[in-house]
Amino acid sequence: MKLCSQYSGVPLDRYSTKGQQKLLLISFDGFRWDYDRDVETPNLDRMATDGVKAKYVTPPFLTITSPTHFTLLTGRYIENHGVIHNMWFNIKTGEKQPYYATQFKNEWWDNGSLPIWITAQRQGLRAGSLHFPGTQSTYQGESQTVKDVEPRFYDYKNETKWRENVDKVMDTWFGEMDLDFVSLYFGEPDSTGHKYGPDSHERREVVKQVDRTVGYIRSSVERNGLSDTLNIIITADHGMSNVYRNGLVNEITLSKIPGFSFNDIAFHLVDFGPAGMLLPKTGMLDKVYNALKGAHPHLHVFKKEEMPERLHFAKNNRILPIILFSDPGYVINGFFPVQFHAGEHGFDNDEMDMKPFFRAVGPAFQKNLEVGPFETVNIYPLMCHILGIKPEPNDGHLDATKHMLVSATEEDSQDINSNIFVGLAAVAGFLVVVFIVLVSLNASKKETNYRGSDKSAPPRGKDETHQTAF
Ligand SMILES: [Zn+2]
Repeated sequence: MKLCSQYSGVPLDRYSTKGQQKLLLISFDGFRWDYDRDVETPNLDRMATDGVKAKYVTPPFLTITSPTHFTLLTGRYIENHGVIHNMWFNIKTGEKQPYYATQFKNEWWDNGSLPIWITAQRQGLRAGSLHFPGTQSTYQGESQTVKDVEPRFYDYKNETKWRENVDKVMDTWFGEMDLDFVSLYFGEPDSTGHKYGPDSHERREVVKQVDRTVGYIRSSVERNGLSDTLNIIITADHGMSNVYRNGLVNEITLSKIPGFSFNDIAFHLVDFGPAGMLLPKTGMLDKVYNALKGAHPHLHVFKKEEMPERLHFAKNNRILPIILFSDPGYVINGFFPVQFHAGEHGFDNDEMDMKPFFRAVGPAFQKNLEVGPFETVNIYPLMCHILGIKPEPNDGHLDATKHMLVSATEEDSQDINSNIFVGLAAVAGFLVVVFIVLVSLNASKKETNYRGSDKSAPPRGKDETHQTAF
């Protein structure tokens, strides 16, 4: 874990905007980086023209909803913030809770890392959250100034509800209540991507709905007179990839692998897309591992301690001793196939299909700028900077994103100008000293000559030539 201020090339307070700028962080769940390529998205395009667009961003591994959202809120890799799965589980009792119920498991979320809402409030700002994963929990006993938790059995796709939520955030929370930071979550296009696949007509239609909503949000910024103060970051938690089955591929089903038996397993999290975790019974670790390793060409099997460092998914007590993930196209089944989604996420975060999109607009951001990719851990220090607050220890760095900021460019160019000025002043000062020395030397020489020879002084032109030669 690193302190971002330790790694910054410039002091963070140099870019400070405290007390002036607000920030709205929006997540459209599962909005893959290239979803705007096969659909007309005039509002997202306009946002890119008015602000910044990243080619794509890289989420942390495991590329699933709650863990990656908590990385947005904390700037920490998943192994460091501890929300390691969408599901709460207890290895002693074997109990598991699904995504929605896990939102209400306070201890799952509040396990040491402080999300930006609480950090902002401790530094005098006011924060709100609507439907964002982690909203329900308290953190060290503290909660957002205002929050709206997603109702059970929520219709993710209802555009009227989307607009009501936008109105609540823009008109009431930012407009009337004057909040400084709000996180806002939409459950699409993830649901549609799962159900119909990322290449479907349905997914393209829901991307149009996202685009209309972005247009609606931006018009409500103007309506509420927030154009000069409110920054908006729109991104997502992960992408989406096609899954193949029904004889199209050799499916991964653990119970069919020779030498593997669920009798050797004390607790497991499988049948959850392309990733899984196993806790073998005492003394069974190597047997389970040796049976699975190399058993399927598209199944990756790691002991926790041999997980690739780049995935940052090992160093946490909640992570089980054996970690599995499959290549795109495949999911991991336990006893028999029970997963029927056309699209999935949870794959290696190196896979392009797992990369989310990123747009940002507002007074802190440059205009009409496209930047290269960066990791989503870096969004947290960017947000802290815009809000003018001191970040908690995190794995991100402002250096990864500061080139998007108006102040960075302006201040850098001011720096260059001031450096040139200082340089010129030094040279001029040196020349003045040299001039004075030469003049006084010449004067004394002239005086000496004059005195010594009783003849006329040397011609002035010669002296002038010497002086101008510097
Ligand atoms: Zn998601």
